[in-house]
Amino acid sequence: QFQKSKGQHILKNPMLVQTIVQKAGIKSTDIVLEIGPGTGNLTMKLLEVAKKVIAVELDPRMVLELQRRVQGTSSAIRLQVIQGDILKSELPYFDVCVANIPYQISSPLTFKLLSHRPIFRCAIIMFQREFAMRLVAKPGDNLYCRLSVNTQLLARVSHLLKVGKNNFRPPPKVDSSVVRIEPRNPLPPISFKEWDGMVRLCFNRKNKTLGAIFKQKAILSLLEKNYKTFQALQEACQKSNESSFGDVSILGDTSNDVSMDIDAGEDQDMDVDDADMQEGASQFKDKVLNILKEGGFEDKRSSKLAQDDFFYLLSLFNKAGIHFS
Ligand code: SAM
Repeated sequence: QFQKSKGQHILKNPMLVQTIVQKAGIKSTDIVLEIGPGTGNLTMKLLEVAKKVIAVELDPRMVLELQRRVQGTSSAIRLQVIQGDILKSELPYFDVCVANIPYQISSPLTFKLLSHRPIFRCAIIMFQREFAMRLVAKPGDNLYCRLSVNTQLLARVSHLLKVGKNNFRPPPKVDSSVVRIEPRNPLPPISFKEWDGMVRLCFNRKNKTLGAIFKQKAILSLLEKNYKTFQALQEACQKSNESSFGDVSILGDTSNDVSMDIDAGEDQDMDVDDADMQEGASQFKDKVLNILKEGGFEDKRSSKLAQDDFFYLLSLFNKAGIHFS
């Protein structure tokens, strides 16, 4: 009766459910968002400690089952069940998110949560083990990747619990882990699009040196196009300032819009354009390579770079008028 396509694996170990709720540190004043309540094993425990639980569930059969389970209990008025797809729903206000999610939505869900405002206190989420290890991976770890860098830019992430397959009914094929995600507040004052644009390129071939990555024609021509657009905009802006239109700023995209297709991208081949490089292009290439040299990045690999290194690299590029979004 459980649907694989909806990632329906019910938590059957009450001790584990209890531990997850404890780790969430829920206060009696908290509104909790639960994603994918299923038959309500976690929901019932959350209702014991929270002021209110808002549970978003895709499967109408599960919604009915949950409503039946809570009916007539003293908790019923503190539970709001919303039937729908969490990725398509507007998130309500919440303090803490607790969820045993279908693993296929891990990445978009993580970034949906991290772009939600106002910022919540923390999220305690069950992920597939490998995804969890990617979230928390540090420079030099095998699983360190664009997902690690981007998540850790926006949040503190820690691994809480390893969970074996047999805690679920039916058991999934993979092991799981519970992770704590605590959004940084305030967020770093940079444009997430710009950051992700650069990090995506750096991890395009994560074991290549940055020197080799930024020598690729396809990457150089993309960056040069951005560079020219940016310059043209800046000139237009200066002109409009001169003709006394006042403060027109085109630089200020620090909107921290964190929507992204994080799954895409690593270790993919770029479409290499074989056209002859023109003189301008070769000058631009030197410009880029000089930036890498200036920061000592030419021989570095993304797999070993920490967040501060990426900050520094982005600032060098931006200072030279090179942008990634
Ligand atoms: N929370 C329950 C538990 O721990 O026993 C069930 C967890 S089960 C892994 C995932 C639940 O998420 C299922 O009930 C499934 O129907 C629901 N679900 C799947 N995709 C969803 C989506 N896009 N939005 C909301 N719920 C979803």
